[in-house]
Amino acid sequence: MPLLKLEDTYLHKGKRKALVALLREKGIKSERVLDAINKLPRHFFFDSALVSHAYEDKAFPIGEGQTISQPYTVAFQTELLDIKPGDKVLEIGTGSGYQGSILHLLGAEVFTIEYQKKLYEGTKRFLARLGIEMKLFYGDGTGGLPENAPFDKIIVTAGAPVVPESLVQQLKIGGILVIPVGSRGKQTMLKITKKSTKEVQREEYEGFAFVPLLGKEGWN
Ligand code: SAH
Repeated sequence: MPLLKLEDTYLHKGKRKALVALLREKGIKSERVLDAINKLPRHFFFDSALVSHAYEDKAFPIGEGQTISQPYTVAFQTELLDIKPGDKVLEIGTGSGYQGSILHLLGAEVFTIEYQKKLYEGTKRFLARLGIEMKLFYGDGTGGLPENAPFDKIIVTAGAPVVPESLVQQLKIGGILVIPVGSRGKQTMLKITKKSTKEVQREEYEGFAFVPLLGKEGWN
């Protein structure tokens, strides 16, 4: 990520407010989630060439063929996770660090894994500069992080062909996994609540498009 001046002007703040109003119109209800989006300057997470687009409700390139998720998608997944302060949360797909930072602002202890080395390194440096604390790991996240399990919540921010069994295993009882599952181009968002060691409850929401989840239980 190129060094840019981390400046949050009235113009940025105004655009962010308008984005939050749009997310509310699109059906996001959690005031805590909307407040976190209102607080976090999304333009800090953008490449300088694309910074003027930071408050559009769209996904944008962040390098290495990857994207920062659309704000609506970030809000939707975060709302499904129902983050409580102190929740131990695992994110698969650190990317720009934006989604992880939203979880951090909501009071979660964030563990996040990224498969692309360059993104991992760039985002790690960038978050340190922002002063946002989370535990970053480099590697294939489809196996989760057994050494740090169990987690209260797990969020996957890339499109999976199947639900990786190890992620369900690494949830606490009562824990929630939010994961887009489907084809390479189109996915259904699943909210999986772990009711007991053997039983899960599933809710489904149509109409999402993520970059593919790679790795052992991903697309290759
Ligand atoms: N949460 C990110 C969205 C990034 S897009 C953000 O807020 O910007 C999805 C990310 O998942 C990409 O960076 C991609 O490299 C990563 N990814 C894909 N497969 C992965 C895997 N098996 N393990 C960890 N990260 C993976």
